[in-house]
Amino acid sequence: MSNALPYDTHRLYELAGEIIVNVRELSALGWTPATSSNFSRRLDDRHAAITVSGRDKGKLREADIMVVDFDGRAVGSDHRPSAETGLHTQLYRRFPDIGCVLHTHSQVQTVASRLYAGNGHVHLEGYELLKAFSGNTTHETELDLPVLPNTQDMAVLAAQVDALLDQGRMWGYLIDGHGLYAWGRDMAEARRHLEAFEFLLGCELELRKLGCR
Ligand SMILES: [Zn+2]
Repeated sequence: MSNALPYDTHRLYELAGEIIVNVRELSALGWTPATSSNFSRRLDDRHAAITVSGRDKGKLREADIMVVDFDGRAVGSDHRPSAETGLHTQLYRRFPDIGCVLHTHSQVQTVASRLYAGNGHVHLEGYELLKAFSGNTTHETELDLPVLPNTQDMAVLAAQVDALLDQGRMWGYLIDGHGLYAWGRDMAEARRHLEAFEFLLGCELELRKLGCR
């Protein structure tokens, strides 16, 4: 039966295990409240493994990971993919080297998205941790993390992300009142980017509380 599926089931098994371990850790940090957030890994050049919508991310099991094609349609499963699946697959479709997309709703990310929505971005400059982003070799650099308006229309959101990607390489974006998307070539790199954004946004919020921003 599994032979009929158009993807490597052993690789899916391995990726599901990796997603489960990592997402439980992110959930333990409080970054996935109330079944929110979604996570995916590239399975091959046409498919991705992604968390099923509405599951408690702190208690993920193998059955909570499904396969979608790069148009966001379920493959070999009756589960309905998350409405936000298209925001994952647009990255896999566009960049063959992207292997992992992580989307979380931490309080820091959500508060920062509200505060900086009017600017359209959060400016990050002079931090040692900017070296965590692939391609950066020095803290003497700067990065504008985009903040997009929230909408339930994923086609609109995806079009806005595509327009940003047309302007150059980036490793994440915020959605106003919603959360953060971050990605990388594999789980380790995507997590490094996610954790760096979380830390840097936390620093910016602290500086603002202290009246320095
Ligand atoms: Zn979301």
